[in-house]
Amino acid sequence: MKHTLTLDYDLAAGWLRPFVEGLAEGVARARRCDGCGRVSFVPLRVCDCGKAHGSWIDLPGTATVSRRTTGADGDFGLVTFAGADTKTVARLDGFGPGDRQGAIVRPPSALPAIILRPEPKVA
Ligand SMILES: [Zn+2]
Repeated sequence: MKHTLTLDYDLAAGWLRPFVEGLAEGVARARRCDGCGRVSFVPLRVCDCGKAHGSWIDLPGTATVSRRTTGADGDFGLVTFAGADTKTVARLDGFGPGDRQGAIVRPPSALPAIILRPEPKVA
């Protein structure tokens, strides 16, 4: 069965605005907890320590892939960004079978997305 569905979304970024704006620029903007210093990317509203206050920081943008999968929509990975204490899921664009390091890139459309391209291997 084939069915075309058109949705007209107008979602406000709210408190995630710095994160969403960072993604549009190809920047990994994370949140550092003011209580314990834990850095979350994607940002957590309330830290694991219970504090809800934090500061925005820009990470270097590189990430290490710990798990990956290939689906109908492409390759995805469970990744840890350098400087972050949490993991997140990212689209893996152009990754070869042995590639485990990537860097965030600006998404091809206006939609926010976490997309990694492989980093050159260090000899
Ligand atoms: Zn905390």
